[in-house]
Amino acid sequence: MTTIAFLGLGIMGSPMACHLAAAGHDVVGYNRTPEKAAPLVSAGGRAAKSVTEAVRGADVVALMLPDSPDVSEVLTGEGGVFATAAPGTLIVDFSTIRPDVAAKLAAQAEEKDLHLLDAPVSGGEAGAADATLSIMIGGAKEAVEAVRPLLDVVGKTVVHVGPAGAGQTVKAANQLIVAGNIALMAEALVFLEAHGADLPAAVEVLGGGLAGSAVLNQKAQKMLDREFAPGFRIDLHHKDLGIVTAAAREAGTALPVGALVAQLMTAARSAGLGGLDHSALYRTIANLGGIS
Ligand code: NAP
Repeated sequence: MTTIAFLGLGIMGSPMACHLAAAGHDVVGYNRTPEKAAPLVSAGGRAAKSVTEAVRGADVVALMLPDSPDVSEVLTGEGGVFATAAPGTLIVDFSTIRPDVAAKLAAQAEEKDLHLLDAPVSGGEAGAADATLSIMIGGAKEAVEAVRPLLDVVGKTVVHVGPAGAGQTVKAANQLIVAGNIALMAEALVFLEAHGADLPAAVEVLGGGLAGSAVLNQKAQKMLDREFAPGFRIDLHHKDLGIVTAAAREAGTALPVGALVAQLMTAARSAGLGGLDHSALYRTIANLGGIS
């Protein structure tokens, strides 16, 4: 049994922490809005009132927070993880943040004899609920092997992809692919609707061919039903497309399709859709296509 501090019990963090508790680990959760710790407590975990309280005595610290500034604050801020964790503690950041920030934080952690892995995930809310996430890990091999049994509890495809920051680079590519998929799937549905096609029949047959995808399986019906409760918020995908376009610029490479999709995601957010699931990008694309 490992004592795990789990910081951030939102849409993804809550089911992940619950799986770890159900697997017999001592999970101490902290969430800024305390009510969100209730499912973890029901699953056999404990709720802490602060980051400091959660991290004290933990062998492993897991984070699942929205963005780079949130992770930086919780790690390096007053009463944060770096100030509280015992030397040798393994820190696993499941959040999706900038690769350069992940690498910098990992170096800062080493100075304190702490070991930080970037371990962003893919698979959505369903993947977190089913414990079938893809986890892309950046960091030292020994630290990866030490936490692998815990990662196997929440993930199905767990791959060490390189040094600190490399997990976030792969995740940025993941978000590019998912956003492009969503945008083109929305465009295809608008096209089919404009032709008066039988939409459920079209989705069924598209799913069986080369156009089939996990995105189509999870999101097409949401678009047909106009059911856009999150899931993965447009605000977060907007953040991720900012990460990938900035990282591409730094590397001196171009993402012509990704840049266009990033603009569409920004337009969706500007239209007030930021709190909805990223499948609501459909609404922005439907508006452009004259479909309501
Ligand atoms: P979420 O539901 O908004 O959860 C984020 C959690 O972080 C909330 O519980 C929030 O607390 C807490 N938080 C936010 N800012 C904080 C701060 N500055 N200090 C302390 N706690 C803070 O988001 P999510 O969907 O779980 O996403 C979490 C991460 O996973 C993101 O990086 C996202 O890109 C990534 N991700 C999400 C999905 C998905 O399908 N949702 C899939 C793969 C990866 P409050 O409750 O107080 O707001």
